[in-house]
Amino acid sequence: MMPETAAKPDPLYPPVIGVCGQSGSGKTLLIQQLVPRLIARGLCPAVVKRCTHRIEADRPGKDSDRVFQAGAEVLAAGPQESFARFHAEHMSIEECLRRVSGKCDLVLVEGCRDAAIPKIWLTQKPSEVPAVPGESLLVVPDASHGRAAEQAVWQVVERVHAGLRVLAAVLIGGRSRRMGSPKHLLKQEQVTLLERVVTAVGAHIADVVLIGTGEVPPSLLGLGRLPDAPGTEGPMAGVLSAMRWRPGARWLVLACDLAMITPDAVAWLLAQARPGLDAVMPVLPGRPTCEPLFAVYEPTARWFVELAAARGEFSLRRALQLGRVLQPQPPCDMQTAWTNVNTREEWRRIERPSSTRGNKLKDAQSMISLERALEVVLRAAPRLPSTEVRLEVAAGRVLAENVVSDVDLPPFKKSAMDGFAVRSEDIADVPAELRVVEDVPAGSVPRRATHSGECARIMTGAPVPEGADTVVMVEHTEPAGPGRVRILRAAPKGRNICLRGEDVKTGQTVLAEGTRLRPFQVALAAAVGRRSLRVSATPSVAVLATGDEVIEPDQTPRPGQIRNSNSYALAARLGQEGIWVDYLGIAVDDIAVLQAAFEKGMQRDVFVVSGGVSTGDYDLVPGALKDAGVELLFSEIAVQPGRPTVFGRRGRTMVFGLPGNPVSTLVIAELLLVPALRRMMGESNPSPLMIRAVLDGPLPHGGNRTSFRPVALRRSAEGWHAEPVVYHGSADLVGAARADAFAVVPADALELPAGSTVLALVFPLSLE
Ligand code: AMP
Ligand code: MG
Repeated sequence: MMPETAAKPDPLYPPVIGVCGQSGSGKTLLIQQLVPRLIARGLCPAVVKRCTHRIEADRPGKDSDRVFQAGAEVLAAGPQESFARFHAEHMSIEECLRRVSGKCDLVLVEGCRDAAIPKIWLTQKPSEVPAVPGESLLVVPDASHGRAAEQAVWQVVERVHAGLRVLAAVLIGGRSRRMGSPKHLLKQEQVTLLERVVTAVGAHIADVVLIGTGEVPPSLLGLGRLPDAPGTEGPMAGVLSAMRWRPGARWLVLACDLAMITPDAVAWLLAQARPGLDAVMPVLPGRPTCEPLFAVYEPTARWFVELAAARGEFSLRRALQLGRVLQPQPPCDMQTAWTNVNTREEWRRIERPSSTRGNKLKDAQSMISLERALEVVLRAAPRLPSTEVRLEVAAGRVLAENVVSDVDLPPFKKSAMDGFAVRSEDIADVPAELRVVEDVPAGSVPRRATHSGECARIMTGAPVPEGADTVVMVEHTEPAGPGRVRILRAAPKGRNICLRGEDVKTGQTVLAEGTRLRPFQVALAAAVGRRSLRVSATPSVAVLATGDEVIEPDQTPRPGQIRNSNSYALAARLGQEGIWVDYLGIAVDDIAVLQAAFEKGMQRDVFVVSGGVSTGDYDLVPGALKDAGVELLFSEIAVQPGRPTVFGRRGRTMVFGLPGNPVSTLVIAELLLVPALRRMMGESNPSPLMIRAVLDGPLPHGGNRTSFRPVALRRSAEGWHAEPVVYHGSADLVGAARADAFAVVPADALELPAGSTVLALVFPLSLE
């Protein structure tokens, strides 16, 4: 069945734009200006010269030679003869012809006034532009308006580019039965691989065409189908078939075995396309070459593919080697979308997250994503009241007001150097000798203006006298007898002078509400006249450890016992946020004991319990919290470590139940607790700090949860590198203490190879 969309013709590609005007108006000259500008924008322009009476090809100075020299491909068409000239060495004639017909991004036609194409007019009298078909893009008096013409042409190119029809070609091949059945019919939970791919693509592209022969699941029988192009092999056969069928379209080409494709990755890929490209083939970290499947092909790519196919060369990647191929790296959370399934083992790995159906159902009901968990927590965080604090203890607090300047900064025109305040015209010729008429130390006020031939000795921070407009630093002067100085080096007017109000004007807001006060912010508040500031109250936080086996650090563990590290870790982390915790000690796994401790914790703004939150028989915390009247908002998050995190609310108190393993406790504190505390204080950006880093070693895949793996950070010229540390899991404090950050491995990702770009959750102060 042929796809239905074949009925509607695609808009003309490449766009054709006329340059019109009387003979001698400067058309060729304008095109000569225009061509290099378009080439500089990455475009490949062709020029057609119409109504050439006698072709004197290649003669220097002739019109066709002038535009050829400017860089255009040229076709000169006359009543008796036509002539084409291309920038191509070692090219056969059919290659040349294909080239001018298919490879260009736009065609400029000189002198074609009656054609219904958009035009640029060259005329001294705009009122005399004839009423002919085709949009008038621009009217200019002469050829000196290359820039305006460039903009007009670029707009057309962009418009046509944006208006290209976008179609998706899914290559089903269908012959390979290595995996038991054709790959595209492999199923997970009743959904075939092909349906999965088509669904992801269908979120952004209306026309999906299946290319190749093979059985298709019944739900997809309505899709358009095309056979592979004859005489070619592999993916190229499919791509060529698509391009020949709709030569004026942009094609998103996909393999049918992209098991982890997502609509987001499709949207990202489509967004990479822009004028002046033949294709977009992403590059994935750790893979040696770019990806020709799950890539975008522009109409101009066809020329390259046809050429390669005619030569019997069937690699898409090599076919486009000489083309303009953008090779962007997909964002790290999308990279798995390029994973294809080749072996049973890969298929099993991809399958695993959903193969344990029982768990999966439970997950779907109770496990929420990290992003969602953060949203829930931030929404539940109440805004604390504000209080006034003196400046010397304001560091670390969050502003609860806008701070407005009561002065201009600098407050007066002042010198930035020790030296001499001079009139710039007096030092136009150096050396120049000047009379020193006064001394202006910092803190004093000049007594007189500086007149011609005079200067004032001035210190850093002192006001510059009237009349002086430049300060020459003392190192560029020498004494020239009593009361005189010799200026040895010229300085431009204004040098070493800070103007009044150049940093801040009176009444201007210098610090906004929600700003965390660090030393520079405190300094600025002082500079604009503040002795105290209105800041948010600091949340009160209670911390309780639970577990029969948990003992204090100064006790010696008997078999089965473990020292409480979580409470101290939390106190340390919250201390960095300027929050002192109220430590409630250790509660044994006993409902009555827990309940009594909870009542104390509930007196605070935030109550943090560690341990006892999983689903074991001794994990009593969630139940006891419910009994204590806490409304639980979630009890499992799709993260690793930290899955059994509990969060709830009673009155104005927020309650966090953190998993007992020490690494889990701190990671979840960083991801959820600290942001909640920051939000309570009104901090404008409460989110955890993440940086991008390149992996120096591989990280294992993390199953169906977003996982956080400890890495040591290293700075290089190109940015941050993250080296995985030896780590034995969420109880391994030794491993975690070697790390500076936790690299994020997205849910359902396969192993991340060395060289991948990852996001990493940075511990505060680890970047200092
Ligand atoms: P739980 O969440 O109670 O099942 O605890 C999980 C693991 O974390 C167990 O091995 C506990 O011994 C350990 N653990 C629980 N609380 C703490 C604590 N305060 N400090 C260090 N380890 C703990
Ligand atoms: Mg326990």
